[in-house]
Amino acid sequence: MAQGDNSADRFTGDRPARLDIDDLSWGAQPGNPIIGPISLAIQPGEMLALVGPNGAGKSSLLRCLYRYHRPITGQVRLDGEDIWSLQGKAVARRVATVLQEQASDFGLSVAEIVELGLTPHRGGWGADRADHEAVEAVLTLMELSHLAPRDLATLSGGERQRVMIARALLQKPDLLILDEPTNHLDIRHQLEVLDLLVRLRCTVIVSLHDLALASAHADRVLLLDGGRVAAIGAPAEALTRSSIRAAFAVETLLDAHPATGRPRLSFYLPNQNQE
Ligand code: ADP
Ligand code: MG
Repeated sequence: MAQGDNSADRFTGDRPARLDIDDLSWGAQPGNPIIGPISLAIQPGEMLALVGPNGAGKSSLLRCLYRYHRPITGQVRLDGEDIWSLQGKAVARRVATVLQEQASDFGLSVAEIVELGLTPHRGGWGADRADHEAVEAVLTLMELSHLAPRDLATLSGGERQRVMIARALLQKPDLLILDEPTNHLDIRHQLEVLDLLVRLRCTVIVSLHDLALASAHADRVLLLDGGRVAAIGAPAEALTRSSIRAAFAVETLLDAHPATGRPRLSFYLPNQNQE
């Protein structure tokens, strides 16, 4: 991935979104909420990492934020407006997603899948030269150029994940929502994706399995447990030995990373003596 330049900047909108979550709850059945009530504000340009044990409700919360789940109570406001009062297309013009389970065998090539990212902004004509140039640029940014003609179904999990990120960036979002985007990536690509997210001008909400990655990159971390906010704040405030113990039932070694100064975490089971 192109490092240390601002090439990522062209792939975000001009108006980083503010998101307000007001007293939000959601569940599959009305009387039985899975998440919430949750209230919080996400500032324009902020990068918020969402962490929590399996089943904590991370994906459910994200689905409420990109207007897939309609809340049971409360609302989600995009720059002040309830997302359910907006047209789906209006939301799609500003909010891009990278999700876990995406159908991958339409028989489309990598270039064609990525080009779908242009759809929300299109007037109805086919791709023009600027479009082709933007597709090439985002493929270059994500180190996917050599895979452009390949059928998506033939890619590795990590390559496919990068394709989905490229497609989302081509949407030039003001808000980018990613559900565990680093899952299939090797360490280098994990760090590169997180580094890219940090550099993007848009607001970013990303769920991550890896507390260390979240801690090393996010502006704030939201620790979700049992559908509730267990902790939120700067990484060192939200991810403490006690908040991690309560949510994950593991012990944590915590210090400052000598190279970056950010919190460094490693984990062990409570019954494994460290002396
Ligand atoms: P996470 O992403 O943190 O692992 P999820 O949001 O996927 O958690 O799920 C939270 C809980 O809600 C899980 O117990 C899951 O089984 C349940 N759940 C999620 N979606 C639905 C649904 N549509 N119907 C019933 N239960 C659901
Ligand atoms: Mg999930």
